[in-house]
Amino acid sequence: MTPDAPRVARLAGRFGCALTVDVEEWYHTCLVPGYVNPEDRPPLCRELDWLLPELLGMLADAGSTATFFVLGEVAESMPRRVREIAEAGHEIGSHGYLHLRATERSPRAFAADLRRSKALLEDLVGEPVLGFRAPEWSLRSLGNARLPLVAEAGFLYDSSLAPCAFSGRPTNPRFASRLNWRTRQLLEFPPLTFGGVLRLPAGSWTGRLASPETLVLAALDHRDRGGLPVAVVHPWEVSGRPTPGRLTGLAWFIHETGRLGFAERFRELLRTLPWASISDAAGLRGGGERAAVPLHALACQSGTRTSGWLASAARSLLSKGV
Ligand SMILES: [Zn+2]
Repeated sequence: MTPDAPRVARLAGRFGCALTVDVEEWYHTCLVPGYVNPEDRPPLCRELDWLLPELLGMLADAGSTATFFVLGEVAESMPRRVREIAEAGHEIGSHGYLHLRATERSPRAFAADLRRSKALLEDLVGEPVLGFRAPEWSLRSLGNARLPLVAEAGFLYDSSLAPCAFSGRPTNPRFASRLNWRTRQLLEFPPLTFGGVLRLPAGSWTGRLASPETLVLAALDHRDRGGLPVAVVHPWEVSGRPTPGRLTGLAWFIHETGRLGFAERFRELLRTLPWASISDAAGLRGGGERAAVPLHALACQSGTRTSGWLASAARSLLSKGV
């Protein structure tokens, strides 16, 4: 661990199962730099305008809710779709403004991106945005000096530290945790893995190749151990059609592997467990199962657009003896 690594305290409580959606187009991949920056990007087929209503319909059919980590660039181009997500009862989180790796940006540029995306989304939906997920899990490790900047920008929680090799680190926390720096705190809700010690991501191509039963058992096992399973999906994964543009090499492999029949497997996953947003699964919004999270400490964070809301949420939970 580096000197920047926080102290990690695992959260105790009974949690629900969380579903998360990274709201981005098929071309928002850090593996193809020419696609990431809108100014450099060639004309590409956009799908979210029809994919998002389709995905909302799937979730409504299953009675599920989710946290949608929305890319700021997407929110700016289709604000109506983002409002529709919130109006359907889902939680809106931030996926940053541009789909750039946190590790490749200066802390200053990363912090500016965090604040820009948060303010944009909050103005759109009129609610505090509590959660952040870095593009491509690119905060990577506990020791990343940019991680406390997520708390500093006013987020209550992060869901960016994959507890596995490549996208994250095996030493990252597997279970919901509270990260403590000297003056900052942040909740961490890591994505679910399966396959025992192999720790395969339950999202992406490894998860698409797995049967719904395998993922459900992994989620239940995680929950039985006191954890908060976090499933991950992208709208383009459930589109049921080939990628509508050119991808090569690793980007092609990650996009295409396990796509055949995935939409139906995803529907089954939705039908099998009562999925909810991270905030609801953790009890952060006051409904459902409550986490034993000492929110009084978090409510003391300064310089946030959510501090007033957090303070009242904390008072409410504390008054109920949580
Ligand atoms: Zn992404």
